[in-house]
Amino acid sequence: MNTATGFVYHEDYLKHDTGRNHPESANRLISILQKLEEQGLMSGRIERLQPVNASREDIVRVHTDAYVRRVEAICDRGGGMLDPDTPLCSDSYNIALLAAGGVLKAVDGVMDESNNLKHVFALVRPPGHHATSSKGMGFCIFNNLAIATEHLKRNYGIKRILIVDWDVHHGNGTQDLFFEDRSVLYFSTHQYPHYPHTGGIDEVGEGEGEGFTVNLPLPAGTDDVGYLYALNNILMPIAAEFGPEFLLVSAGFDAHTADPLASMHVTSSGFGLFMDLIAAIAEENCGGRIAMALEGGYNLDAIAESALSVFNSLLSSSHSRSRSRSREPKEGEFSTSKQVAGRVEEVKKVQKEYWGI
Ligand code: ZN
Repeated sequence: MNTATGFVYHEDYLKHDTGRNHPESANRLISILQKLEEQGLMSGRIERLQPVNASREDIVRVHTDAYVRRVEAICDRGGGMLDPDTPLCSDSYNIALLAAGGVLKAVDGVMDESNNLKHVFALVRPPGHHATSSKGMGFCIFNNLAIATEHLKRNYGIKRILIVDWDVHHGNGTQDLFFEDRSVLYFSTHQYPHYPHTGGIDEVGEGEGEGFTVNLPLPAGTDDVGYLYALNNILMPIAAEFGPEFLLVSAGFDAHTADPLASMHVTSSGFGLFMDLIAAIAEENCGGRIAMALEGGYNLDAIAESALSVFNSLLSSSHSRSRSRSREPKEGEFSTSKQVAGRVEEVKKVQKEYWGI
C-alpha cells in the first residue's frame, strides 16, 4: 500500500472494561473507527498496523517491577481500583500491555524503512500520560508514550525526541519520567489550574534536564485562536532550536469545546490545525516522522471528528509541505485573549533562560 499515514488498532482494546458510566469507555474507540470508516479513510488511504503486547522488559524500562506486579495482581484477582478514577477488570493488565505495544508498533512502523509510513497514530486505550514509574492514575495504567520513547532511544539510538502533549490535562507521568533527561523535550499545553494540578510554568526540568520541560498552562475557555497563538509563539521556536530527530504526540481530544471533563473551546478542525504545525516541525527536522498515541477525549462525536481532522491533516501534509505554513496565523490576523497572551509572555520569561524566544 502506498500511503504515508497509518494507524494502530486492535479489537482487544475494547475489552478493558471500566464499568458503567465511566468516561474512558470502549465506545471512544468504536466512535473513532466508525468515523474513519464512514469517511472512506479505511479503504486504502491509511494503513492499518496490528500491535502485539509490549514485553515485560519494555514496561520495566519505565515502570518499577513492584508496580507492574501490583497491576497484574489486581487483575489476577478479577479486577479492582488502581486509583479512585482508574478501575481495572481481569483483562486490563493484558490490554495495558497491548496499548503500550500499540505505541511501540507505531514507532516501529515509522522507523521501518521498508515501508512508506511517515506518521502512525496509535488508537489505543487505556491512555498513558498520567502514569508515573510507580503509580497509575487518571484512567492510565502504563505510560504508553514514555515506553515508546525509551524504545526509540535504546533500539534506534535516537538522541533528541520531542513529545508534544496537547491533551487538556497535564501529562504529569511523562513529565516526571523525563524531568532529568535532556534527550527528551517534553512540551505540554493544558488547562490550568485543572487535574492533575501539575504543569506550572516554573516546572522546567531538573539537573541535566533543566530547560527540557516546557509547560504552557492555558486558562479555561481558550479556543483555537488562543491555542494557535500559544503554539506559534512557544512550541514552534523552541522545537526549531531543539531540532528533534523524532516527534511523539500525546493526542487527547478533551480540549474540545464539547468535552464533559474540561472547559476549553477547541473545535474539531482546530486539532487538524495543531497537527499542521506539528507536521511542519517534523518535516523540517526529521523527514516528517511522527508517532502519536491517543490519550483522553470523552465526547464520542467530538473525538471522532477531531481524530478525522488529524488524519486529514497528516494525509495532506504528506502531499504538500507548504500547506501548514500557509495556514499559520499571521500577526494581527486575529485577536488573542489578553489572558492567553499574558500566559505566553510568562512562559517566555521563564523559558528565555534556555531558548532563544
Ligand atoms: Zn486528558
